[in-house]
Amino acid sequence: MKIAAIRTHLLEHRLETAFESASMRFDRRLHLLVEVVCDDGTTGWGECLGPARANAAVVRTYAGWLVGMDPLETERIWAILYNALRDQGQRGLTLTALSGIDVALWDIKGKRFGVPISTLLGGRFRASVKAYATGAFRRDGVDRIADNAEEMAGHAAAGFHAAKLKIGFGVAEDLRVIRAVREAVGPEMRLMIDANHGYDALEAIRLGQAAAECGIDWFEEPVTPEHLAAYREVKAKQPIPVAAGETWHGRWGFREPIETRAVDIVQPDICGVGGFTEARRVADLAALHGLRVVPHVWGTAVQIAAALQFMAAMVPSPVRREPIEPILEFDRTENPFRQAVVARPIEHERGVVAIPDGPGLGIEIDRAALRAFRPKEEA
Ligand SMILES: [Mg+2]
Repeated sequence: MKIAAIRTHLLEHRLETAFESASMRFDRRLHLLVEVVCDDGTTGWGECLGPARANAAVVRTYAGWLVGMDPLETERIWAILYNALRDQGQRGLTLTALSGIDVALWDIKGKRFGVPISTLLGGRFRASVKAYATGAFRRDGVDRIADNAEEMAGHAAAGFHAAKLKIGFGVAEDLRVIRAVREAVGPEMRLMIDANHGYDALEAIRLGQAAAECGIDWFEEPVTPEHLAAYREVKAKQPIPVAAGETWHGRWGFREPIETRAVDIVQPDICGVGGFTEARRVADLAALHGLRVVPHVWGTAVQIAAALQFMAAMVPSPVRREPIEPILEFDRTENPFRQAVVARPIEHERGVVAIPDGPGLGIEIDRAALRAFRPKEEA
């Protein structure tokens, strides 16, 4: 079996209502799928976190080394591709693009042996996971407090046991939003806050100290990802557990945050950290230091499926009668192609998502959807 071709698929949807996190404005959804085709007709699918066209350019660059290689040699391919761009790479797009390829290769490997990726990773500890709803961004033209409170109450009514809202727009307003959301969802729901690195350490500490009484599970990306000393300060000086990882790449990117315990919860994205190959190493490193892992997810059903396969095989830590279970990030914002790209959508049932048990990622891509959401200028 040899790799015959690598294809990239851009997917685009222009949003009816633009929305914002503290660091980014979304007026469209634009994601990239990666297709690796083998000489026997086997096809594997992956996805890249982050800017789709830039990722596509790097994937196409890697394709020059990939064609003719044995797709089952995931570790060897990872090392060769990483080394190919290492001198100017090491993190960022070189790793997000490599992630899409690595996920596709593991999909091929699972199909080759007729088992889900979770089996290749060592076996399934769980057949389903609880999901948490990600939403409550700042949307154009509406009152943010009422809008976020109403949306989060909707997630509670839909059965989600947990949900995450966006902050980082200013401490005073964010606190009003957090209090309104807690009021709207009631005392039982787990609530997380995500500043998308919109604060400096002083603001984050002030926010965390005041928001803690609202019962917050974790405070995600309080400060910029490069400022690890600021992370440690935020962790030490306010009571909410600190989480981050979606903007760190590779084992080297995670080493210092993990070794210095800059966070309580590590959030590698399977389609950003370096694929399954690298996510395992990061999870092992986190386990070695006694930190929790909750994968980040922001993409289509391909990325959700990758997270699910990885989560199925995550070793409970500590092992006990009722272990701490990983929870799945489940994006609830407008994105019609998120589930349309697969023949059988990966949906939640009262906040619980079943982990596909078919070969590879356990999904089937709907090519008509790929055509339907292809950007007009690429058609
Ligand atoms: Mg986040």
